[in-house]
Amino acid sequence: VSGAELFRVEEKDAREALPKRRADSHKGTYGHVLVVAGSPGKTGAAAMVALAALRSGAGLVTVATRAEALPWVMAHSPEIMGVALPGEGPLGKGDLEALKAALEGKDALVMGPGIPRGPETGALIGDLLASVDVPAVLDADALNAVAEDLTVLRRAKGPVLLTPHPGEMARLWGRTTKDVQAHRVGVALNMATSLNVTVVLKGSRTLIAEAGGRVFINPTGNAGMATGGTGDVLSGVCGALLAQGIPLPRAAWTAVYAHGLAGDLMAQQRGLMGLIATDLLVGLGHVWVRWE
Ligand code: AMP
Ligand code: MG
Repeated sequence: VSGAELFRVEEKDAREALPKRRADSHKGTYGHVLVVAGSPGKTGAAAMVALAALRSGAGLVTVATRAEALPWVMAHSPEIMGVALPGEGPLGKGDLEALKAALEGKDALVMGPGIPRGPETGALIGDLLASVDVPAVLDADALNAVAEDLTVLRRAKGPVLLTPHPGEMARLWGRTTKDVQAHRVGVALNMATSLNVTVVLKGSRTLIAEAGGRVFINPTGNAGMATGGTGDVLSGVCGALLAQGIPLPRAAWTAVYAHGLAGDLMAQQRGLMGLIATDLLVGLGHVWVRWE
């Protein structure tokens, strides 16, 4: 693809990007992630984002979700804090004030996995990103919501990271998944540049594209990761690294490399057949031990 500078992510570079845990630090040092995720039947998605952020060094993690879903999310782990979004049904403009309040004092936002999506969800995301200067990761149904009008992303005050799988990218781009897969580098780079965001295009050999030219290819990961929830874990890792102050695109390629390596290490124990998303939470621990 003309104009693209391609780099392979190397383990030493990912390792060097990690923040050091200083002896005199405290939980405030490592940032507070707000996770907007989950709905009845998809409370596990929110829990996996939150647990991945906690297992990736975030000082605090709070999940914002509808009241009916919140206890089920929080019951997954006592470290997860929660805030109920008043109202019912799909997220829309009526949720703006509650989300702005929930974002006060937060260092990163992860939004999308399992959210109830409706006709106003894309506009809500646009208004929210336009009103707060916090790094934001949009995944899953947050991507499907903004696909209806991508220009809302141009209003974002803070840095934005999109983490589509090929199907989500096809919706964002208005083409088929097959087209996306045939032009992965070009599509990722084009979207990053035209919206001034960082794009992680997932799948075998995940790409990380930054606005303006560089594209990174990730060598880790395996087909065992083709199982529900692994993407939710990735968005949580991304949110945690952003909350710890790692800038984009570095936070993105570090998270992608670590997430894939977690999958590779855990596949040795579970097999490609047996690997499931929560295994990656254990695998992340192996990665951090290897890198610390
Ligand atoms: P999602 O589809 O949002 O759950 O994300 C799936 C996650 O698993 C992404 O991080 C993908 O890169 C990863 N993944 C899925 N299939 C493969 C594969 N065949 N090889 C490497 N990574 C994969
Ligand atoms: Mg996903």
